[in-house]
Amino acid sequence: MIREEFISGYCERSDMPPVRVEGERVYWTDEDYWCALPCSCEKEGCDGWAMIPPSGRGWHLYSSGPEEGRPSYEEAIAADMAWMEAKHPGIRALARKVRAASPLPVPTEPIG
Ligand SMILES: [Zn+2]
Repeated sequence: MIREEFISGYCERSDMPPVRVEGERVYWTDEDYWCALPCSCEKEGCDGWAMIPPSGRGWHLYSSGPEEGRPSYEEAIAADMAWMEAKHPGIRALARKVRAASPLPVPTEPIG
């Protein structure tokens, strides 16, 4: 299956006609898009492609992307956080500020 087939099938099944498609980007509005990415998760029903919100693109490629060109864990997180920062400028600084004012019980050791 090629990317274009996956995109058209996905849009038909979800009854979500895209505004436009640019490469891997499937635009649901003029600005908002998801990414049609290769997938090697091998889960039942997976046809080798996945529709992923751009905030999780790096993580998907790290965890289920093709082996060739797979980003490292650090690269994946950096890519997703860069997207977040571009979409919501100042979000990391804001998150740190909120966290400092009201610390959450975020684990510092692995759970389990
Ligand atoms: Zn998959």
